[in-house]
Amino acid sequence: MSNRFKPIFTTYKPVMRCIYCRTPHAKEAPLGKEHIVPLSLNGTHILPRASCTPCSKITHDFETTCARTMFGKLRIALNAPSRRPHLRPETLPVHFKLGAYRHTVDVVSKDYPLIAFGLPEYDMPLRLTEEASAEFYKVRWRTYHGLKRNAPALTYSAGLEIPVHIDPVAFNKLLAKIAHGFAVAEFGLDAFDWLLPPYILGTATDIFSVLGGTAPLSLETFTNRPTYRPRFTHRFTIGILDSLRTGRKYLSVTIRPIIDCAPQYHVLAAEVPKETTTKDLEAISDAASARRYS
Ligand SMILES: [Zn+2]
Repeated sequence: MSNRFKPIFTTYKPVMRCIYCRTPHAKEAPLGKEHIVPLSLNGTHILPRASCTPCSKITHDFETTCARTMFGKLRIALNAPSRRPHLRPETLPVHFKLGAYRHTVDVVSKDYPLIAFGLPEYDMPLRLTEEASAEFYKVRWRTYHGLKRNAPALTYSAGLEIPVHIDPVAFNKLLAKIAHGFAVAEFGLDAFDWLLPPYILGTATDIFSVLGGTAPLSLETFTNRPTYRPRFTHRFTIGILDSLRTGRKYLSVTIRPIIDCAPQYHVLAAEVPKETTTKDLEAISDAASARRYS
């Protein structure tokens, strides 16, 4: 066996300031590295010296909620990395119904047969539509479930009950964090007035003004860097989205998290001058980013 599936890590230039609150790096209060997508979801993009201790605590909390609540069983099924593998349960319950009766059997975690999780589907970010108030904003839920390939045969599969947990507040913050980290990594902390830190830190709550989904009317893209693919597939694309109503332009990070058939999310990381083109973005990115592969 080769190491064909070895993850490829991308490490960016150290930021030396907290990308959320801009606290500078100091010897007595060093900044930690940010995994742009959490390690728990097989994130492989690293931004060194980029998060202060208080901000790390905030991001760690919603990342942990997502990793455990929304994607916990998926992570176990796919054997995703864990900082605390010893805390992983040895067995997991499988619930099923036979006739009128509910049953539970405990199976060894590595044999857990189900891959099940849910993801929300959103309308476009409100800053792009600027017509509907949040009241009319639609959220739909999509669930994904299946039996793991090579799972032991289940004699009770007909009555399986498939648990799916969704925590939209934590998940939306996670999307904002991924978008902000990726945008800062590519363009530098001083390139734009970043919109997302207040949503990530929880001081702003109207997140659907900057977060949404569905296919854009026009998305010019210049990056499409698929990350480590065999198990989790996270795709990020940076482009410019404009509001058809106002002509305002935004730097948007488009994220398709977890798997290929996941919904696509648009996260508006910054408003950019109206004359900005993707060529300009490319130039700023080339000047700012220093990527290494390790
Ligand atoms: Zn901070």
